[in-house]
Amino acid sequence: MFYNGKEWVEFPLVSGDDEGFVNGYSIYDVLRTYSGIPYNLKRHYDRLKRSADFMALEIPPLEKIKIILNQAKKIHNYEEFRFKIYVTPFTSKYKTFYCFVEELKEDVDLIEEGVVVNIARERKTSSPIIPYYVKTPLNGSIKYIHKKYDYYYDSIVLNEFGNVTEGTYSNIFYVSGGVLLTPHISSGILPGITREDVLELANDLSLEVEEKANVQVWELLSAEEVFLTHTSRGVVPVRRIFPDFTFTVPGVVTEAILDNWKDFITEKIED
Ligand code: PLP
Repeated sequence: MFYNGKEWVEFPLVSGDDEGFVNGYSIYDVLRTYSGIPYNLKRHYDRLKRSADFMALEIPPLEKIKIILNQAKKIHNYEEFRFKIYVTPFTSKYKTFYCFVEELKEDVDLIEEGVVVNIARERKTSSPIIPYYVKTPLNGSIKYIHKKYDYYYDSIVLNEFGNVTEGTYSNIFYVSGGVLLTPHISSGILPGITREDVLELANDLSLEVEEKANVQVWELLSAEEVFLTHTSRGVVPVRRIFPDFTFTVPGVVTEAILDNWKDFITEKIED
């Protein structure tokens, strides 16, 4: 169900001259609930605002988004849901602020069995026209690379120097010699909100952690454990990187993160 800037409709009317539709000139963000409460709403809003500022787009105030979220909750009565916000330039004819809500069911197999990912052939440039912190489909051509590798849960993207950056919709972590590592922001990544939370939780658990610049592919492929992070699914263990690099699922460090994740999130929500 979509909120089209005015009301909830099944099929939103998108103007043929909407620049988001025609040229991809738009921004978006994705939220989810834990125990029915939006996770890190303010941080997602701030990220949407940063993206909007860069792209010279207007977004509604946070209070308005809270009202829409509450409506979504009442209309659908989903236990947990995912909430996508899309913003395109406002025109005089159409409001171009869309929200899309869908039910989110826990996928236990995903976490217990781990996923298979590949490494995309295509590379990211180190000086993109739009910085990687901006969530826009214009950056997201990266995301469409992944569609052609449909079999894989996500595709890991390297930068022009061949260093590991992130997935097309997730950040990546790996464990080497017991140390939890993740590519540094300077590699050209979206500073994921789940990534930040995993780093915070790892610190709380006194794990040794490093945000590492210039992560080379062999470092990732020879890791003991690998996992992805993204809002919709949280922490997702990787069991294999195509073709045959395999990892323990869940490894000791990933298990420590997973075991404490729900409590960590719940405490944040209560705060
Ligand atoms: N990296 C990219 C390119 C993404 O598009 C996303 C999320 O959509 C992430 C990482 C994960 O970010 P978050 O944890 O905020 O969902």
